[in-house]
Order: sequence, then structure tokens, then C-alpha cells
Amino acid sequence: MNAAVHISGLKKSYNGTEALKGVNLSIGEGEFYALLGPNGAGKTTMINILTGLVIKNEGTTEVFGKDTIKDYRFTRAQIGTAAQELPSDWFFPIEKLLYFQAGYFGISAQNAKPRVNELMDRLGLTEKKGSRLRQLSGGMKRRFQLAKALIHDPNILILDEPTAGVDVELRHELWDYFRELHKGGKTILLTTHYIEEAEMLCENVSIIHEGKVIKEGSPKALTQSLGKAGITIHFSGWNESLEPKLSNFSYTHEDGRLHFTVQDSEKTLPEIIAILAGEQCRIQSVKTDQSSLEDVFLSLTGKGIHEETTK
Ligand code: ADP
Repeated sequence: MNAAVHISGLKKSYNGTEALKGVNLSIGEGEFYALLGPNGAGKTTMINILTGLVIKNEGTTEVFGKDTIKDYRFTRAQIGTAAQELPSDWFFPIEKLLYFQAGYFGISAQNAKPRVNELMDRLGLTEKKGSRLRQLSGGMKRRFQLAKALIHDPNILILDEPTAGVDVELRHELWDYFRELHKGGKTILLTTHYIEEAEMLCENVSIIHEGKVIKEGSPKALTQSLGKAGITIHFSGWNESLEPKLSNFSYTHEDGRLHFTVQDSEKTLPEIIAILAGEQCRIQSVKTDQSSLEDVFLSLTGKGIHEETTK
């Protein structure tokens, strides 16, 4: 089966600034995928090449096996993009803008009507349907961007920093909606520099740094690759016979507190608990401390993700 998105050897320079230095990645159909990287890493350039807004210098970009330049009509129809920047159509009511957008994809007003109504309803825009974009709050503008991206029911949804600058409540609401769309079968490509967002939503993540993919995998595999999860257990009932039983683990023990350093806390914790329970220890508390994608990013680049890439 063809990947939903396949990028190979992709390079792009803007007047001598190398924004992409040979990117390879593949996104399976139905996957929820994140491009995670600091500002300036090249994420927007990559999605703009996919959607035909930016012209690449080298490499290939395919959508469901079709080249995004040769077969652009097909590939563009597969994708809906909720961009960071707002369009400049400030003068029309937002409902009208949705009809215009449907028109770009050859959908008549009559056929678009149920979809426009459904999206406005689902995204809480119905009351604002007569408003102009400039009259909308920041949160409402985000909702509108999403409705616009989804109007032609694309197979692939691209979300460029979809929750940058939105309040916590709307962020959670949007996350719920993204999960719902993913469950419904959409392939979702999200760019973000919010680690939490990639960790919570996505099945696979590419960490992008200075125009290159420096690591790819599931958030769990990436965080486990650091092997730094910790488990701290407070308990009573230590006895000498525990020592040989725990000898396979890396741990420290002092007065009713055990601290383990493990590769995979989900797998190891039940084993440790079983050993302690088998020796009639009474467990008072358990705390696990898995390393995060932030740690992964830091260990790979020596920088925090919120530090801007400087060229
Ligand atoms: P991100 O989306 O990860 O923040 P971008 O793709 O926007 O990264 O930018 C990657 C690099 O390319 C940055 O150094 C940025 O300044 C540069 N860049 C992006 N767009 C342009 C442009 N239109 N002209 C010149 N340089 C650009």
C-alpha cells in the first residue's frame, strides 16, 4: 500500500539559507504524525512544499503514491491545511468563505451546504456565521481555519502549529476533535514545538532540527531510547531475601524507599510490585518518572526545543 505521504531527499534553500537539507520521511495512511522541532527547523517549508506553496530544490514528495508536482490536482485534493497564517479575505462572512473554499475543490454550493453546516456546528461557529474574520476572536479564527481545511473532506489533514497561542480550554477541545478525526480514519500531520502535544496525540514523531530529521519513532520508543525512566516506591517490610530477587534491577535502597532506574517502567513496574508483594512488603506509594520527548530532544541537540534555531 502506498504511504499517505512520502518524502525523499527533500532540499530547499531560500537565498542561501538551507531550510531543508535532505529530508526523508513516510507517513502511513490513517497515521497521526508529528513534525516536532523548534521555530526555524523547517517544518512549515516541508508542508508548504507538499501543498505546492513552496518550490523545492531537490528530492521527491508524494501523496498516496502520486508526485505532488506532476499530479498536483490529485494530491492537492487529498490535503486540507489549517495554516498558521490567516487568509486575507477579511470582507466576507465566514460562512461565505467556507462556500468559496468548497468551490475551489469543485463542490457546488448545494452539495457543500450540509458539510458547511456540520462543520460550523461541530466547531462552534454557527452563531458567528455572519461575522467577518477580523471580527472573530483568536480562538474563533482557529476554529474557522480548521473548518476551512476540512470542507472538502480531505484524506490528509495538515495542522501547522494548531494550538500555538490558544488558551488551555480550547487546546483541549481541539485535541479532542483531532482525536475524533483520527479515529474516523484521517491521516493527520501536525507540526508543533509543544512536546506535550506530540506526546499526547501522535503515533509517530519526526524530530526536525536545522532542516534534518534527526530521529523518528513513536513517542514511547523515543523516550525509552534514553532508558532513563525512574520508579520510586515507598514501602515497609524490607527483608534480606529481597536482595537476590531484585538483583536483576538497577536500584538503590534506603529506609523504606526503593528507587529503580529502568528502560520501560510500564513493563517493569508490575514485576517489581509482584516481588515486593511476594515478600509481604506493604507498599505506600509508587511514583514513575518516564523521560519525556523534551529529554530526547535535549540529548540529541544539546538545546531545549524552545530555543530558536539560529543560522
Ligand atoms: P519552522 O516552520 O520549523 O519554524 P520554517 O520552515 O518556517 O521553519 O523555516 C525554516 C528556515 O527557512 C528558517 O531559517 C526561516 O527563516 C527560513 N525561511 C522560511 N521561509 C522563508 C522565506 N520565504 N524566505 C527566506 N527564508 C525563509
